[in-house]
Amino acid sequence: MSEDYRKMWEGLGLDLAAHDALLSVLGQGYQQLFLSQKNRPAGMGYFDFVMSEVHGLRVKELLDAKAAGRKVIGAFCLFVPEEIVLAADGVMVGLCTGADFATEKAEELLPRNTCALIKSMFGFKLGRVCPYMESCDMIVGENTCDGKKKAYESFGALVDNLYVMDMPQMKSPQGRDLLKSEYYRFLKAVEELTGVTIDAARLKKGIAVVNNKRKAVQRLAKLRAADPAPISGLDALLVNQIFFYDDPVRFTASVNALCDELEQRITKNEGVFAAGTPRILMAGCPMAVPNWKVPAIVEGSGAVIVGEESCIGERGTRTLVKDSAPDLYGLMDAITDRYFTIDCAIFTPNPSRTEHIHEMKSACKADGVIHYGLPFCQPYQMEAIPIEKKLTANGIPVMRLETDYSSEDAGQLKTRVEAFVELLK
Ligand code: SF4
Ligand code: SF4
Repeated sequence: MSEDYRKMWEGLGLDLAAHDALLSVLGQGYQQLFLSQKNRPAGMGYFDFVMSEVHGLRVKELLDAKAAGRKVIGAFCLFVPEEIVLAADGVMVGLCTGADFATEKAEELLPRNTCALIKSMFGFKLGRVCPYMESCDMIVGENTCDGKKKAYESFGALVDNLYVMDMPQMKSPQGRDLLKSEYYRFLKAVEELTGVTIDAARLKKGIAVVNNKRKAVQRLAKLRAADPAPISGLDALLVNQIFFYDDPVRFTASVNALCDELEQRITKNEGVFAAGTPRILMAGCPMAVPNWKVPAIVEGSGAVIVGEESCIGERGTRTLVKDSAPDLYGLMDAITDRYFTIDCAIFTPNPSRTEHIHEMKSACKADGVIHYGLPFCQPYQMEAIPIEKKLTANGIPVMRLETDYSSEDAGQLKTRVEAFVELLK
């Protein structure tokens, strides 16, 4: 990374020594897991470039946008509507929480038995290693699971720009009303932050940009149904991860270019793995950058991942916002309707998630499902048991995995995954 970036990081208040250590681990991991893959599509070159500049060029772009008067809004969850942020000329970034960092410091503020995702959110802040977090004019928390909603009470003291959104727990008319009123409150907060009044035309533009981004990843998801698989699960996961912080228009064009290439591969019957390789659908907790452990183990065990029922995957992208309403109220209704379809495990009951896993299993022609849960994540772990029962009753092989961001259990996980893959052959 260039000297200019070091000045930029210093200006953001990062701990340069700790940040160097983080980038070095990230770089090595990336080299080992991604760049060593065989027969990758050329279109992945763009995403490799994005990763190589993950704390460089993209952060510079954010700072340039800020210098031009735009505001940067960070989010931890799918329920924060990017459409509203874009409508006010803001930039939204996902704040990745996929690695252990400054865990001891985080555990001074959080119980040890907190999920790795929440601990990572604190660790990145306390360790001063995330240029995205430090660039935000507003950080949006959401009252989803109990862990997150209580964590934001303490997190609010670490940052001076936390905005907390309330969330329904049931998919009832009252739940929808709550979500809608929270989205109006968020719209007002974004207007106040940016000084921009959002009207229907602006919101329509925001909706179009995000819908196009979702359409591109939907196209990618469909192409993965081919056998042989034209792209590895690791690479597809990376695209889904970059979805959260790249410039949305550039990202959309790059995913569509990748899809053009994958279509040609499919026509020529070319793939990254041999035809007939056991096919896995991953389901469960989100896998934020750089949480690549389980996918790397699965694909290193002779299987290919063909879909992600995850927030870093189809849970966040399979539905679009209807853009036909003529006024702001109608469009806000459409935004509420779209986000209300997200089947996060915080909802009770949550039957649409099991249905979605069934649908995805057929659509991507998976042979089996691996349900991934982070330790201490009650919503997903509790839901995993009935999901496993229902899928098994329908003759679908399922394995439940529980693991955090450390690599200590990699050997044990590999043994279990290999046994599962054998079963699918
Ligand atoms: S799992 Fe639920 S709470 Fe977590 S990011 Fe996804 S939607 Fe948000
Ligand atoms: S839903 Fe689970 S993984 Fe997500 S923040 Fe809550 S406990 Fe952690």
